[in-house]
Amino acid sequence: MKFQIIAGELCLDFINTLDNRLIPERRQELIQSYEDLLDWATQAGALSTAQRALLLREAESDPKEAAAVRARAVELRECLYRIMTAVARSRRVSEDDLSVFNAYLGEALSHLELRRARKGFRLAWPENHSKLDSVLWRIARSASDLLSGDDLESVRECGDDTCRWLFVDRSKNHSRRWCDMKVCGNRIKARKFYRRQAARNVV
Ligand SMILES: [Zn+2]
Repeated sequence: MKFQIIAGELCLDFINTLDNRLIPERRQELIQSYEDLLDWATQAGALSTAQRALLLREAESDPKEAAAVRARAVELRECLYRIMTAVARSRRVSEDDLSVFNAYLGEALSHLELRRARKGFRLAWPENHSKLDSVLWRIARSASDLLSGDDLESVRECGDDTCRWLFVDRSKNHSRRWCDMKVCGNRIKARKFYRRQAARNVV
């Protein structure tokens, strides 16, 4: 599947993988399987194609664990959705959501290691890690960076009522209203077309 990566932040693009979230009859789960999760992570730049291939092989040899990780990914995503929309709407984030998120974050950070860099050291994920949930570590880290950084006040929901995808507004004058004109522009066009058709049918 080809995913739309538009949010400017890994964790927000992940939240957007439940499409048409607010319209029950059109809601679409884009992460149907562990392989979907790997495809999304690769397209979003969180995994290399070599890492994707390694994790896919592991998943094929342990489908039960792969299904469990996919279920946890969805739990993490929905928790992040509640946290980030609360932030975007200037509401208080619930303690329950914070504690669920902190459990994921603690697990993620326990895998970070200090590695020698050209100048000093840097934090990095272990290379060639075959743990299936290593995809979730990157999402949790992205969310903790966003929540504790200066970009937090630029988290926005798409202005289209049926879309509401999340993104970081890094535009110069903080005026970005839409997730992406290619995505939302098309939705708006489709709706206008539908309305025109409906109007014609009335006559
Ligand atoms: Zn949108």
